Amino acid sequence: MALAGALLGAGPAGAVAAEPFGIEVRFLGAPLGAAQRSAVNEAARRVSALIASPFEPVRVDVPAGECDRGLPALRGRLTRLVVFVRVKRLDDDLYATGMPCDLHDGSFLPIYGVVDLNSSGLSDLPRTDVLDTMIHEFLHVLGVGTLWERDARISVSGDQDDRVFVNRQGKTTLYVAPRAVAAFRALGGKGAGIPLDPDRGHWAGEVVCSEVLSGSSGDYTGRLNPVSPLTLGALEDLGYRVQARGAAPFRLPAGACPLDGGAADAPPGGFTSCAAARAAGAALPLQRGQPGYRPGLDGDGDGLACER
Ligand SMILES: [Zn+2]
Repeated sequence: MALAGALLGAGPAGAVAAEPFGIEVRFLGAPLGAAQRSAVNEAARRVSALIASPFEPVRVDVPAGECDRGLPALRGRLTRLVVFVRVKRLDDDLYATGMPCDLHDGSFLPIYGVVDLNSSGLSDLPRTDVLDTMIHEFLHVLGVGTLWERDARISVSGDQDDRVFVNRQGKTTLYVAPRAVAAFRALGGKGAGIPLDPDRGHWAGEVVCSEVLSGSSGDYTGRLNPVSPLTLGALEDLGYRVQARGAAPFRLPAGACPLDGGAADAPPGGFTSCAAARAAGAALPLQRGQPGYRPGLDGDGDGLACER
């Protein structure tokens, strides 16, 4: 995948040595296979390589279960962003979830976070899909899509960050922070901001189409997920310095998102699992009425199965 060359530069060894920002993965829950574990670690390296500013070292004394049930205690001096990666049973239509926990005083950037990977169907997921999913979730842990609401940005000492990232206009929510909006305009995007999905944590799928932080509204393949200048801009808006060359070549679609029609070989009655749909190369999410769609894969009943 083109993304690998663009982000890793000189190769894994060189990238690690030159990396001022690090993500430390701590695995929890059901053990992951070696290939999937390595995909998780590679995703952590690629996301770290987007960031040019160092992680601000911090001393923590967090009791077990404070951020989320079942998380262990976290004590001592952290020099990298710690991310607990946990394999557990989630709703059928979810691959994974990711969120930051405590935020630094001053910068309001995350100190640690957690990613949950759905154990259901995980062993069937190809390595590239684990990689894509984990890049997406690590970006959520860094705050993209998870720290856009004002209430979410409260530091460990209880300070509130007053910057404005999103602006609700009737039913639509626009992302309005400057760097990502500038990137959107540079790509030919129109309007006062970048339209977001209804969950207000992803770019509107029908506007941005295939992008690592695109949501599931609209028709797009979900198979190719570049880190675009929009997401890089969103990292800058949060306060990270970024590697300008970290973004992949990207274009906003001129009209509707291209469909890859990959659900042609969907089994009658629908795919047994989202992992099976992915493995078959189906365009995700599956829409109601489309081959492969099955209500059992559409947990929230919104007509879209295998969203993330
Ligand atoms: Zn997401």
